[in-house]
Amino acid sequence: MTATSKSATSRPATMSRPAALRADDVSVVIDGRTLVGNVSLEVAPGEVVALVGPNGAGKSTLLRTFYRALRPTSGWVSLDGEDVWRMTGRWLAQRLAAVLQEAPGEFELTVYDVVAMGRTPHKRMFQGDDADDRRIVMGALADLDVADLAQAPFDRLSGGEKQRVLIARALAQRAGTMVLDEPTNHLDLRHQLDALQLLRRLEVTAVVALHDLNMAAAFCDRICVMDAGRLVAVGPPAEVLTASLLAEVYRVDAEVSHHPRTGVPQISVVPGSPFGMSHRPDADGAIST
Ligand code: ADP
Ligand code: MG
Repeated sequence: MTATSKSATSRPATMSRPAALRADDVSVVIDGRTLVGNVSLEVAPGEVVALVGPNGAGKSTLLRTFYRALRPTSGWVSLDGEDVWRMTGRWLAQRLAAVLQEAPGEFELTVYDVVAMGRTPHKRMFQGDDADDRRIVMGALADLDVADLAQAPFDRLSGGEKQRVLIARALAQRAGTMVLDEPTNHLDLRHQLDALQLLRRLEVTAVVALHDLNMAAAFCDRICVMDAGRLVAVGPPAEVLTASLLAEVYRVDAEVSHHPRTGVPQISVVPGSPFGMSHRPDADGAIST
């Protein structure tokens, strides 16, 4: 795994054991603005990687290149050793499931139907659901604690319920790799834990954008920090989540301790913004904004 800026124009040689997901020098430039700049990242099979960083850092944009919603301006994205842009949509959907930030308007569909859509990449045209599909869909509904909503119209659910249904749909897709963009955003604490625990239990390869750094530290093998389109730090939580990084990237004063029971890094933010760009005390002690 690398987090380097490089100006290579030729495609790097294939590694002996392909990463499940790999970004090679990926840049996304829109209207002359670099939203993602020279990001290289390798995610090993079974690894769960958190993508963190301030609003607008480029996390969603990078993830969109992974599930092929956005073509990088330069660089490559490969899945299981294959350039995703050279493969069919069906090939990709059998291997990669995405849980996106925006809940689509799934008009008229029941929760069951939305989750059953996850089976589509595994079916031939016009092939109906068989007993296996129904078992997988019901299992995914139960895993996300939404089985009792199976016949409810998707559009009427709360934000958190919708989010769980969309995770269930990705689960029903039975893809080896998952890309999740803030999947825990609307979830209460119990359901946040359940969702992330589930991700670990599935033993899938995952890249998950998260805002909660403590959750990222507790559940992810490595943390990738993005800031202004760049990957600025990559590594195990204990190496990456330092007070100086949090000050630099998030402009917060934070204490980093270790959880008394798990040893995982724990971040407590100290109110105020002593490093602040936005609330810097003036020479006369007044606070300017
Ligand atoms: P994050 O997910 O880290 O909050 P995003 O990847 O959504 O950040 O956005 C990164 C930056 O790119 C933001 O400033 C956003 O406004 C901008 N941006 C995102 N998509 C587009 C687009 N299609 N066209 C122009 N700018 C975009
Ligand atoms: Mg985003």
